[in-house]
Amino acid sequence: MAYDVTIIGAGHNGLVAACYLAKSGLKTLVLERREIVGGGAVTEELHPGFRCSTLDHAVGPFSPHLVADLNLARHGLEMITPEARVLALAPDGKHFCIYNDVGRSVTEIEKFSANDAKSYPEFVNSFSRIGRVLAPLLSMTPPSIDEPTAAELWHLGKVGLAFRGLGKKDEYRLLRWAPMAVADLVSEWFETELLRATVAARGIHGAFAGPWSAGTSLGLLWQAAMDGSAIGSASYPKGGMGGLSEALAYAAKAAGAEIRTSARVSQISGAYGDKPKVVLEGGEEIESRVVVSNADPRTTFLNLVDPIDLEPGFLLKMRNYRAPGVVAKLNLALDRLPAFRGVDDTTKLSGRIHIAPEIDYLEHAFDASKYGEVSPDPYLDISIPSIGDASLAPDGKHVMSIHVQFAPYKLKQGDWMGRRDEFASNVIDKLEEYAPGIRETIVASHVITPLDLEEKHSLSGGHIHHGEQTLDQFFTFRPLIGWAQYRTPLKRLYLCGAGTHPGGGVTGLPGANAAREIGRDLNRR
Ligand SMILES: Cc1cc2nc3c(=O)[nH]c(=O)nc-3n(C[C@H](O)[C@H](O)[C@H](O)COP(=O)(O)OP(=O)(O)OC[C@H]3O[C@@H](n4cnc5c(N)ncnc54)[C@H](O)[C@@H]3O)c2cc1C
Repeated sequence: MAYDVTIIGAGHNGLVAACYLAKSGLKTLVLERREIVGGGAVTEELHPGFRCSTLDHAVGPFSPHLVADLNLARHGLEMITPEARVLALAPDGKHFCIYNDVGRSVTEIEKFSANDAKSYPEFVNSFSRIGRVLAPLLSMTPPSIDEPTAAELWHLGKVGLAFRGLGKKDEYRLLRWAPMAVADLVSEWFETELLRATVAARGIHGAFAGPWSAGTSLGLLWQAAMDGSAIGSASYPKGGMGGLSEALAYAAKAAGAEIRTSARVSQISGAYGDKPKVVLEGGEEIESRVVVSNADPRTTFLNLVDPIDLEPGFLLKMRNYRAPGVVAKLNLALDRLPAFRGVDDTTKLSGRIHIAPEIDYLEHAFDASKYGEVSPDPYLDISIPSIGDASLAPDGKHVMSIHVQFAPYKLKQGDWMGRRDEFASNVIDKLEEYAPGIRETIVASHVITPLDLEEKHSLSGGHIHHGEQTLDQFFTFRPLIGWAQYRTPLKRLYLCGAGTHPGGGVTGLPGANAAREIGRDLNRR
């Protein structure tokens, strides 16, 4: 057999898995359907001279342990981490900036409320302490529910001990918060609507949920586990998100992996037996000892595997795995930096820019999507990476990446082909309220609808995280209960993407965890 491992998809998780598997001496092949590697983490030319991160615009954060372990700096990765995390805008020009530095953030919040400024440091510290306790779960393989091994119990026991070390106050907070609606959580801490909405937005990022939906505080806890803060981070690879994927591809090749682009897998067969193979569009067949899918779980099991190879019960559960996309993107090439009302300090624009001034605004934005409507007043999460990275646009010009929520995959009226211009115009109208005159600065635009996410980027349902990240599709339940250890009912087929623990976001952790389990099985065999 020519290969030990065939990985379907060169998303960042597929590439991380390839690095580790090739490093351990396994002959590894990566097959990517697109002409470039990276999946969600890619940079493409939007207009001559303007390069933009097409989908993701900031890393999840990517695990610092993986950056060091895979020596990514040597393979060209350079990270840009602005001091500003998020700039929150109100329509009247009032705003505050949350910095990495707590003291600077407090000074900004004070402009709105002395009480909130007082609460903010304890909010940050509490999430940071709780995040430290949860962090080891991220790089752990979720334990088996039916037959946990001694090692799994040992790892969980260590987390339990750390939990006991938190002290009563934080212990109760952690237990109480996870199932809570994020709107309730933020209102316990803060009185300023803009601050409540800015913090709460993290809980519903990419989710078919509004801030009043139960369990949305989980997003804040998970974010804290990843980087010690409940508020989303702003950290960009130089050259856009593709800079990270290219560094990973170099690292994988240096370790001995082979990567083929424009190689779409149309079928996985024989993975229940000892000779699995993938069939490429065009008919080429490739055998290997195991097949690993970086595609999302629904794409893998409902499109690539013959249903006859799967138990009806498993198929039913997979059909019920929820992945309703609600995110669209609008990327803009701008001939100058837009002037945001009231903001005169460019450094404040160098992190994310948040547009959704109130909790009710977020909830109404979600309401529309429940009924198949594109939100007329969407929540916007914006970045202008060219402020910190001159390689992305010509001198004095900029690229703007706009994550738009809520834009449902299934529309009640019309279809995405017919409604993309109306959608883009609506988003630009919203931007005009905050940055008057921005329309005149637009040189080129690129709209990516949830349907494009499915058709062009292979994300089932257009879901940005390969499936909802709710309590019932989390940790030992991701993607399905009984199948959270990267293995699948087909003994030679594994999953390694965001549809596995610890889920979506550009962290690299699902790929690294999956590689560990696959390596173990292959060594055992
Ligand atoms: C619009 C959008 C905005 C986002 N914003 C952010 C953000 O700002 N920060 C953040 O951290 N995360 C963000 N995310 C989420 C993040 O992109 C994903 O969680 C992440 O990309 C998952 O990585 P992955 O490697 O598991 O899968 P993917 O990146 O989805 O990669 C899967 C790969 O498999 C390939 N593939 C699929 N089927 C086949 C096949 N049949 N044959 C060959 N190849 C195949 C695909 O082409 C793709 O390259 C965003 C996602 C989207 C879509």
